[in-house]
Amino acid sequence: METSFSKEQLKDKDNKSSEKILRKCVHCGFCNATCPTYQLLGNELDGPRGRIYLIKDMLENKKPANAQIVKHIDRCLSCYSCMTTCPSGVNYMHLIDHGRSHIEKTYTRPLRERITRSFLSKVLPNPNYFRIIRLIVFIVKPFKFFLPKNIEEMINLMPKDFPKKNLPTLKLYPAKNRKKPVARVALLTGCVQTVISPQINEATIRLLNRHGIEVVVPKGIDCCGSLNHHLGKDSIAKQTFKKNILIWYDEYLNNGLDAIISNTSGCGTTLKDYGFIFKTDNEFKKKAKKISELTKDISEYLNENVKLNFITNKKNNKSYKIAYHSACSMQHAQKIHDVPKSLIRKTGNSVLDIPDGHICCGSAGTYNLLQNDIAKKLLKNKIQNIEKIDPEFISTGNIGCITQIANATKIPILHTVEIIDWYTGGPKPKVLGNI
Ligand code: SF4
Ligand code: SF4
Repeated sequence: METSFSKEQLKDKDNKSSEKILRKCVHCGFCNATCPTYQLLGNELDGPRGRIYLIKDMLENKKPANAQIVKHIDRCLSCYSCMTTCPSGVNYMHLIDHGRSHIEKTYTRPLRERITRSFLSKVLPNPNYFRIIRLIVFIVKPFKFFLPKNIEEMINLMPKDFPKKNLPTLKLYPAKNRKKPVARVALLTGCVQTVISPQINEATIRLLNRHGIEVVVPKGIDCCGSLNHHLGKDSIAKQTFKKNILIWYDEYLNNGLDAIISNTSGCGTTLKDYGFIFKTDNEFKKKAKKISELTKDISEYLNENVKLNFITNKKNNKSYKIAYHSACSMQHAQKIHDVPKSLIRKTGNSVLDIPDGHICCGSAGTYNLLQNDIAKKLLKNKIQNIEKIDPEFISTGNIGCITQIANATKIPILHTVEIIDWYTGGPKPKVLGNI
């Protein structure tokens, strides 16, 4: 695609990077075919190619965003299905991040939207605030019908059950039965996940410790920063990124780290992008690059670095049909698709592919809270596709998808790491009950 940025405009590092991306696009429109919002809404501007044009126009012509542009950009899930399809290697992820940040700088949203977005930006990344909101939701839930529609929808998305925490909160979880661990990793325990699904981190820690790996959870790291990054709130996101980079880099230099483990693929995607985000920042670029290099999704790490010791016992001697839901951030952003399925197969269970598995479930960070109608349609399609293959339970690697899907089906859903933990000597996940 031809571009017409001036020399002056290209002095800006974000413009320079976006111009490079834009030049790769050949307008073919293949990406529209696999875009969930284009499929649902049928409007060119609700597909990747149309959005690329909208962003190009704003950036090149120094145009402030307007309500129409914002509508179509906001409808993008950041699922990156378009990036998997694109034959020209267009990095839509970096382009839409730039577009969102431009919108945040040049457009004043209606008051209600501003309040909602600020609320989400402050509450979700902070586990303590989120715990308070959880309590408030519990109290007001019986009266939700008297509240505005969007608040009622948000209340509906709050999970019904909150599993109890079983492991104490420690900075260091030592390797089991070894004086010297075989490896030392940091775990990103996350923000929302620590409150609504602590069993995922616990399964990760147990599993790694049992295989001789020491796990460190450095103090001061909650959120990876992606929630604010995707809301276009760059300066808040960057504060979080910088804090995390400094803490992990310090741990890496002083005590040694073989990897930084993410068990939420949405967060892992952002951690792996720290290097790009700071590539022109002289103070942070080296450190950010190192953090990105160290980051591994738990499935990737187990596959590449751990000789898993599968154990058959009374609690896991049955074979199940498991539907694997590949989170968009896992398959399209991190390009990890077969590894989790092959790990599940090693447990002796069978893995079923979900029809249209490349299409998002509608969770997408804060998307189901902000674009509820589209998210619901995508969820409905996802559940129909899952139910078609009649699995005994579902597995995935992202807390957002787990929460979204669990809200709409009775089929149990659990994180892939819980299955691996269970089949290597950990407890049977409670969500499975007696099945
Ligand atoms: S990221 Fe997803 S929703 Fe957005 S344009 Fe690409 S395919 Fe469509
Ligand atoms: S598939 Fe790639 S090259 Fe073709 S229009 Fe979409 S982004 Fe551009």
